Amino acid sequence: MTTRTAFGDVAILVPAAGMGVRLGPGQPKALRELAGEALLVHAVRNLAAAPSTGLIVIAAPADDVDLVRDLLARFDVVVVAGGATRQESVACALAAVPLDFDLVLVHDAARCLAPPELVESVAAALRAGSQAVIPVLPVADTIKRVDDAETVVETVDRSVLRAVQTPQGFRRDVLAAAHASAAAQHTDDAGMVEAMGVRVTAVPGDDRALKITRPFDLAVAAAVLASVPAAPDTPPASADSPNPPSPANPPSPASSPSAPES
Ligand code: C5P
Repeated sequence: MTTRTAFGDVAILVPAAGMGVRLGPGQPKALRELAGEALLVHAVRNLAAAPSTGLIVIAAPADDVDLVRDLLARFDVVVVAGGATRQESVACALAAVPLDFDLVLVHDAARCLAPPELVESVAAALRAGSQAVIPVLPVADTIKRVDDAETVVETVDRSVLRAVQTPQGFRRDVLAAAHASAAAQHTDDAGMVEAMGVRVTAVPGDDRALKITRPFDLAVAAAVLASVPAAPDTPPASADSPNPPSPANPPSPASSPSAPES
């Protein structure tokens, strides 16, 4: 059985079944600790604090489903076993979403400090009519294309490039069709949707949604956490809320996301 965390109209899928090999030996990445708590706990706390959130489904490492359920006992979440790839894990989580959710976000546990405001801005773009939405940041580094011998082939015009984050948002039928028809593995869900020819809309991302991949990223995340207050453990929307968010009563858009530079 699935339960709603609040009165939001958005289901959020959290692929969290990766091993985190690039982080070095240890537990699966989502269970590694940042400031004394698992990355997954930070991620769920931030997602649950977004007024739009109505359901959170975690795709956990297959051997750690019970452990993850215990770890997240104080949150109202659904935990399923993930798959061998990120794409499979997202599909496992999507299968657990009741059909009455039209809006689905996919958020990597590895971006555990993504703020609730980012959920709201992606959800708002979906409600405004987009089929698929991705948060993006401008690319700061100069980017080169190289060949197999690591010889530079060209310098790419970075003004037209964006670094893509999560949560990515989709109309549920679009995401389901993309997963059903995907012929190859993609590193994000928007890639599958693009392959179907569906227009994907970019909205401003947020520096706090950095992806934790290597030990250095953990150190950066610890510094970010120390400088920004954490979201509360419980979602703000409740049965007593006078104006629970809904498609007819959407929450405000993000207040201070990072705008792409031209
Ligand atoms: O490996 P990478 O960092 O790109 O993984 C992105 C996200 O996908 C992480 O949150 C990771 O836990 C998740 N993942 C998953 N199932 C896999 C591999 C990765 O849920 N088999």
